[in-house]
Amino acid sequence: MSIRPLNIDPSNCFIAGAWVAPLSGDTLPLINPSDGNTLCEIARGQAADIDAAVVAAEAALSGQWGKATAAERGRILAKIGHAVLQQVDELAKLEAMDVGKPLKQARADVLALARYLEFYGGAADKVHGETIPYLDGYTVYTLREPHGVTGHIIPWNYPMQIIGRSVGAALAMGNACVLKPAEEACLTALAFAEIARKAGLPAGVLNVVPGLGAEAGAALSAHKGVHHISFTGSVGVGKLIQQTAGANVVPVTLELGGKSPQVVFDDANIDAALPFLVNAGIQNAGQTCSASSRILVQRGVYDQVVAAMAARYAELRAGPASADLDIGPLVSVRQKEIVEGFLAKGADLRLAAEGQIVSDAPAEGAYVVPTLFADVPPDHPLAQDEIFGPVQVIIPFEDEAEAIAIANGTDFGLVASCWSENGARQMRMARALRAGQVFINNYGAGGGVELPFGGRGLSGHGREKGFEALYGFSVLKTVAALHH
Ligand code: ADP
Repeated sequence: MSIRPLNIDPSNCFIAGAWVAPLSGDTLPLINPSDGNTLCEIARGQAADIDAAVVAAEAALSGQWGKATAAERGRILAKIGHAVLQQVDELAKLEAMDVGKPLKQARADVLALARYLEFYGGAADKVHGETIPYLDGYTVYTLREPHGVTGHIIPWNYPMQIIGRSVGAALAMGNACVLKPAEEACLTALAFAEIARKAGLPAGVLNVVPGLGAEAGAALSAHKGVHHISFTGSVGVGKLIQQTAGANVVPVTLELGGKSPQVVFDDANIDAALPFLVNAGIQNAGQTCSASSRILVQRGVYDQVVAAMAARYAELRAGPASADLDIGPLVSVRQKEIVEGFLAKGADLRLAAEGQIVSDAPAEGAYVVPTLFADVPPDHPLAQDEIFGPVQVIIPFEDEAEAIAIANGTDFGLVASCWSENGARQMRMARALRAGQVFINNYGAGGGVELPFGGRGLSGHGREKGFEALYGFSVLKTVAALHH
C-alpha cells in the first residue's frame, strides 16, 4: 500500500533522506483497529537499521545541519509546520485509520503537530546563555549545545502530537533524530518524514525506523552513538529504557502516564466542570497519558455529580474511527483485553453508567464499552492502576485534607485539577497536588503546546512541551575566559 497522497511505502524505513527496505527484508502487518483488517505491511526494523540511522544522523551533524544557525533551523521547522497545515485532512484520515481515533480527534492532533513546529521554529533562536559575574579578569558565559544524536521512542496513542513535542524541540536545538514509532501505529511518523524531506530538512537529520519495541526500540535505547533518549509509553518499558540508557550514562526523558485526578469541591461551578470531568477521561478512548481517570467529589455535591456524569455516559457511543463518534476502538485487541481485565476487577464496584458500542461496529474491531464506576475505594486497583481505556472512577471525600490525601495517593503524578470558586483553596490545592501540571477550573488547557509537561513518581521525569523542553534537548557548557 502506498500512503496517499504522499506515496510512501510503509514497508520501508526512512534513513539518510531516502526510503530503504529494512536490511532483513522483514515486515509486520499493521492492523486497522476499527475492523481488524490488515491495513498494510510495515518495516520490521532491527539493530542493523538502527545502526544505519545513527550513522546517518552523525553524518548530518558533521555536515550542513551541524553548521546551521538557530534561525535557519527555526525557519525549516516553520516550513515543515506550514506543509503539515497544507495536508490536515490527509494526515487526519491516516491517523484516524491507523490509531482508530475519531476523525475530529485526529484533526486536532494534526493541528497540534503544526503548532509544535511553529512554536519550536519560533523558539529556536531565542535560547540564550548567560554571563556570570566571577573573579577579577574572567569573563564567564554559558552556551546551550545540542546533545548530538537523540533517540525518540514513541507510543501509538498520539503519534503526531508526540513527534511535534519531542522531535520538534530536539531539531530546534540542533540535534539529529532517530525516531522509532510504535508497531501499532506508525503511518503518520513516516508521512511526517516525507513532508519534512520535501520542506527541505537535510538528509539524516530525521530518520524513522519502524519495528518492534524489543528489537528496534531496544537497539535504539542501547546504542552507544545515541546521546539522549526521549520515551513516552508504559512504566515497565520506561524502567527498562532508563536501565539500558544508564549503562551508557545517557540522559533520558520519560513520560509514562498517570492516574490523574480532578477534585471537585462543594463550591465548584458544576455546570462548567461537567464536560471536562467526562471528556478528560474518554478522549482518545481513554488512551491518553494525561487522561483524568479519577474524579474526586466532595460529599455536598456528590450525588449531583454522579448523576450528571452518569447521564453523559449513557449517551456515549463507541464506533469506527470514520464514524467520528465520541469514542473509537482501542488501538488493538490486545489493549481491549487489558481494559476488559480491569473491568472484570471492577465487578465488586457500583456501576454508575455505561455507554454503548454502536450496533454496526465490526465485531473484529477493538471496542470497549465506556464505563463509569462510583463510590470507589481509593485503594481499589481501578483507582490505583492506569487502565488506558474509557473507564473512570468516582471517589467521594469529606474535606480538603482528605481530597489531597486521595489525590496524591497513587504512585503517579502527571496532571491534576481543582474545581472550586474559592481563590485561597485554589492556591492551596495548586501547591498541595503532586503533579507536573495542575489546572484550576479546567483540565488540559486545550492541549497547551506552550506549557511544560511531565511527571512525578511513576509518571516519569524530565519536561517536554513549552520552552522547558529546549533545555532538556540541549546541554549547558560553561566557558570561563581569563584575560589578564
Ligand atoms: P504500550 O504498552 O502502551 O504499547 P509500550 O511502552 O509497550 O506502550 O510502547 C511504547 C513504545 O516503546 C513503542 O514504540 C514500543 O515499540 C516501544 N518499546 C516496547 N518495548 C520496548 C523495549 N524493550 N525497548 C525499547 N522500546 C520498547
